[in-house]
Amino acid sequence: MEKISSAAEDRQHKEPFLVDPIYELHSPERTLGYAAVAQANKHAGIIAQMNTHPEDSREYHMLNRLQSIFLYDTKYELKGVRDTLQQIEGRDEDTMGRHFGAIVSPYVFGLLKKHDQPNGPEISWKKWLTERASDEELLNILQQHNYIVEQQATSQRIELSFEISKHFFATTVSDMYDSGDIALPSKSIDEISLVVGDVFDTLMKERSGYYQPGVAEVVLAQGQIGGEDARETAFLREFPRVLTHEFVHALLCRTYEVSGNPLAARWINEAETEVISRLIRQAQGLNVVEDKVYQPERDLRELLLSKAPNPEFAAKLLMRAFTGEEHDTDIFVTHINTAWGADDVMEKIHQAVAFEEKRLVIPGVSIDRLVHAEALRVVHERLRDTPEKILLPGVDIIQRQLARAAQEPKK
Ligand SMILES: [Zn+2]
Repeated sequence: MEKISSAAEDRQHKEPFLVDPIYELHSPERTLGYAAVAQANKHAGIIAQMNTHPEDSREYHMLNRLQSIFLYDTKYELKGVRDTLQQIEGRDEDTMGRHFGAIVSPYVFGLLKKHDQPNGPEISWKKWLTERASDEELLNILQQHNYIVEQQATSQRIELSFEISKHFFATTVSDMYDSGDIALPSKSIDEISLVVGDVFDTLMKERSGYYQPGVAEVVLAQGQIGGEDARETAFLREFPRVLTHEFVHALLCRTYEVSGNPLAARWINEAETEVISRLIRQAQGLNVVEDKVYQPERDLRELLLSKAPNPEFAAKLLMRAFTGEEHDTDIFVTHINTAWGADDVMEKIHQAVAFEEKRLVIPGVSIDRLVHAEALRVVHERLRDTPEKILLPGVDIIQRQLARAAQEPKK
C-alpha cells in the first residue's frame, strides 16, 4: 500500500502547478483534436504573458487580431478533425452524439440547436461539426473533450483503483502459477502503465480497451456519459472486467513472441484471453456475469477442445501453451491434431476463418467485428457438422484457389 499513497502524494504535489491542462496526458496523439488544442493552449500562454489590457482600445484590437491569426494557425488540425468526424457512421455516430451531448456546455448545445429546421429534422452532431460549426466552435468542443480525457487520465480515484487492481491481479496469478495452471508472467505487472483512451480511439473502434504487444501500456476507454462523477463511476464499473482482460494480453500471452505461432491468430487469442481473465476474476471472488464478450471466439475454442478425450485437460494444456514456452505449444497442438485425426488443425481453422471473412466482406471495406464474428459462426457450424470440409488434406489448397478467384475482377 506504500506505493499507492506515494503516487497519490506525487499527484497532489504536481497538480497545483499544472499550467497546460493536457501536460500529463500519457498518449495525447490518441485524443481527437489534441494537436489543435495543444496549439491553442500555447497561444493562450503567449497572450497571457503579454499582459495586455483589453480595456485599452489599441491593445484590444491587437489582441483581436492576434486571436484570429492564432486560430488560423490551427486550421490544418481542425480540418483533420472534420475529416475524422466525417468517417464516423452508424452505431459509432450514435456514440459520438451521446458523447458530445454529455460533455458540451448548454451554450454550445444552443449553437447546435439553432441549426434545427423548424418542425423539421434535428441537425446531427456530425453534420454540424463537419459542415456548419465555425473553427472557434469546433475548437471549443475539442478543448472540452481533451479536458475530460485528461481529467480521467490524472484522476486519483482511477489511479488508486489501478494500483489496487494490479496488486490483486499479481497475487491471483501467482496463486494460479503455484497450482500449475499457468506459466509465469512474461514481465512484472509494475511495468504496465494505464492510459485512459479517448472514445474515438476505443469505443468507436469497437473496443473498450486494448493492448499493443511490445508497449507496456494498457489503454482503456474513458467513461463518457453523464456528469463528471458519473463518467468516472461508469469507467470504474467496467474497470475490473476490461482491465483483467488487457492484463492477460499484456502479461500472460506469449504467443506473439514466436512468429508463426498457431495460437497467435486473433480468434483463439481473444477467446483464451477472455477465458483466463474470467478464471482470474472468479478466483478473486468477483461476480462474473455471463455476457457475450467474445462469444463466437469462445464457442469455437470450446468446440475445438470438445473433441479431446478429456476437454478439461485439453483446456489446461491450452492455457499452459498460451502462457508458456514454445514446447508447451507443441504439446497442445499435437494433442489437438490427434483428437481431430488431422494435421495442422489450428492452421486449417485459421484459414477457414480468413476465407469466410473474405467471402462475407463487401469488397473494398475492411473486415470489422461483425464480419469476423459471422465468419467464426460459419466455421464453427462447419467444423461441428462436417469437419472434413475444413480438416481434410488439400482442402486448404482449394480454398486458396477459391479465394484467388473471388478477388479477380468480375467480367
Ligand atoms: Zn483482447
